[in-house]
Amino acid sequence: MKNVVDIHDIGMKYQSLDGEIIALEHISFSVLDGEFLSIVGPSGCGKSTLLSIISGLLPATTGEVLVNGEKVSGASRQIGYMLQKDQLFEWRTIFQNVLLGLEIQKGLTPEAKEYALSLLNTYGLYEFRNSYPSQLSGGMRQRAALIRTLVTDPKILLLDEAFSALDYQTRLAVNDDIYAIIKQENKTAILVTHDIAESISMSDRVVVLSKRPGSVKKICKIELSGEKRTPLLSREAPEFRGYFQSIWKELDVHV
Ligand code: ADP
Ligand code: MG
Repeated sequence: MKNVVDIHDIGMKYQSLDGEIIALEHISFSVLDGEFLSIVGPSGCGKSTLLSIISGLLPATTGEVLVNGEKVSGASRQIGYMLQKDQLFEWRTIFQNVLLGLEIQKGLTPEAKEYALSLLNTYGLYEFRNSYPSQLSGGMRQRAALIRTLVTDPKILLLDEAFSALDYQTRLAVNDDIYAIIKQENKTAILVTHDIAESISMSDRVVVLSKRPGSVKKICKIELSGEKRTPLLSREAPEFRGYFQSIWKELDVHV
């Protein structure tokens, strides 16, 4: 399988009023086509920084990121970015929210609108296209946010703590929901989370970062037995606990 993202020796220093903050050091790994990869690490270790660098929105201090062999600099149409808060605009209907990315990219063609409607239809939001975000449940809002990201047809999805704002029960359901959509649409996904169980349940591989300055401590390949792989079923696989313990140990969280 080919690499769609190559991260080469990324380092990041922020200048702040208190001086220099080294956020990331010597980060290198690749992401395969169609892979679901998670990045876990303690709070403040540079996970969001790394995702912003991969997106091309934040220039790294050292190193480079290649997407399909080309160096990223600036926003790229190949990349869709989804954040913790769904960031739907309350004064826009669901359909108008879903079209936002297209409007920004000046890509609001009749075909693109059709595609947006077909995604809303496939993923159960067509009846809500004229509703406002406040009329939807947390899970439906998250789905609408994902559809907004998918409408511009990015190859790679970056999800920064995309599920953390949801309560536990909803989060489990939304994990399954979003995972199914990402697989169905053949996307490559990079998920940042501080939730070890979530990372194992969704991923082909988990990258464990050290505390700040973040560096790669371990890359854990997740292989679970079972006929069908869904995040919820993954949590019941016999191997799950072992992966949890080994990642927990790497994270070395002291309370
Ligand atoms: P995480 O997402 O893992 O919690 P972040 O990438 O948000 O971590 O932040 C990593 C470190 O860099 C933190 O210490 C944070 O305070 C610092 N940081 C993040 N953004 C900036 C910025 N714009 N200027 C200065 N320091 C920053
Ligand atoms: Mg963060």
